[in-house]
Amino acid sequence: MEETNQKRIYNLFASDNYAGICPEAWLAMQAANVGFVSSYGDDLWTERACRHLRQVFETDCQVFFVFNGTAANSLALASLCRSYHSVICHELAHVETDECGAPEFFSNGTKLLHVHGPGGKFDLAEVERVITRRSDIHFPRPKVLSLTQATEVGTVYTPDEIRAASELARRYGMRVHMDGARFSNAVVSLDVAPAEISWRAGVDVLCLGGAKNGMAVGEAVVFFDRELANEFDYRCKQAGQLASKMRFISAPWIGMLESGAWLKNARHANGCAALLEQQLSGIAGVRIMYPRQANSVFVEMPETVVAALRSAGWQFYSFIGSGGARFMCSWQTTEGDVLQLAEAVQSATLAS
Ligand SMILES: *Cc1c(COP(=O)(O)O)cnc(C)c1O
Repeated sequence: MEETNQKRIYNLFASDNYAGICPEAWLAMQAANVGFVSSYGDDLWTERACRHLRQVFETDCQVFFVFNGTAANSLALASLCRSYHSVICHELAHVETDECGAPEFFSNGTKLLHVHGPGGKFDLAEVERVITRRSDIHFPRPKVLSLTQATEVGTVYTPDEIRAASELARRYGMRVHMDGARFSNAVVSLDVAPAEISWRAGVDVLCLGGAKNGMAVGEAVVFFDRELANEFDYRCKQAGQLASKMRFISAPWIGMLESGAWLKNARHANGCAALLEQQLSGIAGVRIMYPRQANSVFVEMPETVVAALRSAGWQFYSFIGSGGARFMCSWQTTEGDVLQLAEAVQSATLAS
C-alpha cells in the first residue's frame, strides 16, 4: 500500500503489473550488470534466454524480446497479416480493447473482427460464422485467429479448446496467435506442459508475458513456425522495440526460467486469487462473475459497496471485461493482503 498525506491507499489488487520486480528477475539483471557486452541482442545472455525458452517449449522456436505486450501482440499480428487481412478475436481481447489500435497501426490496416462468447472465450461456431460470412473481395480476409491465455477475465482455454480453435483456423487457411500476457498462470492452472497449450495445440506465435509474472519489463515473442519470423527483427527495430542494452531484458528470463520462478510466481498468484474467491463468495450480496481459473477475481457488488470500498481507499478497475470489480493477484500478494481485502468488502457490505 501507498501512504499519502490524506489517507491510506490500497492499490495492491488493481493490477498484477502494480507489483514490483521479483527477486529472481532482479538478481538476474544484477548478474548481467558486469562489464561491456555487445548490444542489440548480440550477446550471451540473450542467447541463453532463447535457449531456455526452447527447452521450456521443447521445440526449436524463434524468440524475440520486446518491451511490452502491446508491441509483442501488434508486431506478431503484423507479421502474420497483410493490410487487407483481418484478425478474429474475442470482443474483450486486449488487442481489441486495450492497445489503442496498435495491431491495426503496425499492420497498416488489418482489421480486427470480434466475436462473442461466455467467460472471455470465443464461441467457435460464431468464429466460423464470421470466417464464412463473406468471401468476396470487399471484405477484409480473415487470416489470423487470436486467443488470449489466460483470458482477460481470468478464465483459461483447455488444450482441447485450443486445438479445436486451431483446427478451425487451419481449415480456412488461417494462422493462430496467442496473447500470453498471463500464459504462466494458465500453465499452472491447467497443470500442463507449456507445449501442450501452445504449438502442440496449433499455436503459431505466442506473446509470452514477463512483466505481470514478476519481471521489470519485457515480453518474449515466440514463433513456433520459424518462417513466420522472417524479418521480424526489422519490424522490432522499426517499431522502436529493439533494446540496445538487450541483456537487461533477456537476462531476467534466464533467472525466471532457470529457477522456476515463472511458474512459482504464477502458482502463488493463482492461489491468492483462489483464496480471495473463497473468502468473497461467502459474503452476501457479492457475486463472483466468472469461473476463477487464474489470478483474478471479478465480482459484482451493490454500487453502495463499491463506493464504500473506494472511499476507504481501495483501488480496482471496473471497466475491464464486462464490468464488475476486478481484483488481481500477483507474485507479491500475500495471504494477509487477501484477508484484509475480504474483510474490507465484508465491512463495506455491512455498512451500506
Ligand atoms: C497486460 C496485458 C497485455 C500487455 O500489455 P502492455 O501494457 O502493453 O504490456 C497484453 N494482453 C493482456 C491480456 C494483458 O492483460
